[in-house]
Amino acid sequence: MARYKDEQCRICRREGQKLFLKGTRCYTDKCAISRRNYAPGQHGQKNGKLSEYGTQLREKQKTKAFYGVGEKQFRKYFEMASNKKGITGDNLLQILESRLDNVVYRLGYGSSRPQARQLVNHGHFEVNGKKVDIASYLVKEGDVIAVREIRKDSPVIKENVEALASRPVPAWLQKDAEKLSGKVIRLATREDIDLPVEEHLIVELYSK
Ligand code: SF4
Repeated sequence: MARYKDEQCRICRREGQKLFLKGTRCYTDKCAISRRNYAPGQHGQKNGKLSEYGTQLREKQKTKAFYGVGEKQFRKYFEMASNKKGITGDNLLQILESRLDNVVYRLGYGSSRPQARQLVNHGHFEVNGKKVDIASYLVKEGDVIAVREIRKDSPVIKENVEALASRPVPAWLQKDAEKLSGKVIRLATREDIDLPVEEHLIVELYSK
């Protein structure tokens, strides 16, 4: 997937809602959605009614953007979700939530998912005592995620720990801010996931 940097706000404007891709800026009045809540481009302010397919497609694109996942990987997650017991849409969101970059973000060690992914890629984290620098690594129940000893003095980590201390941690994770770690108590359920996503539309899209 193409990696957006300054273009992140355009993605939010395209989807018409905050996707929280830029960390603390997303919570200020500098947020582009607060200032220009219409799609980017020449025809951005025209409100065309979406077809059924268009609605399903936008929901998929929005979900991919939330988690920063490309089409190929997203499709793979959908297949994994379909092969699991239970409701495919719920399974899909659970898999996305289990990505290591998302867990780092949820624990408040990354200010946004894109930043969390960068921190993971740069080797800041370990899982159960072993370095893991793959953002798509899927955590399991009981896993302990921690900032690696040699990265504990990282200015970005320190800044995040301080700035995000009051951000709520979801019930499926347990944070230990002193140890700069967190534990997966259980995998996320749909009720734990606060994203405004209608996952059934994605299932309908892929089931055509
Ligand atoms: Fe930009 Fe964040 Fe606002 Fe999205 S939520 S438009 S990424 S500032």
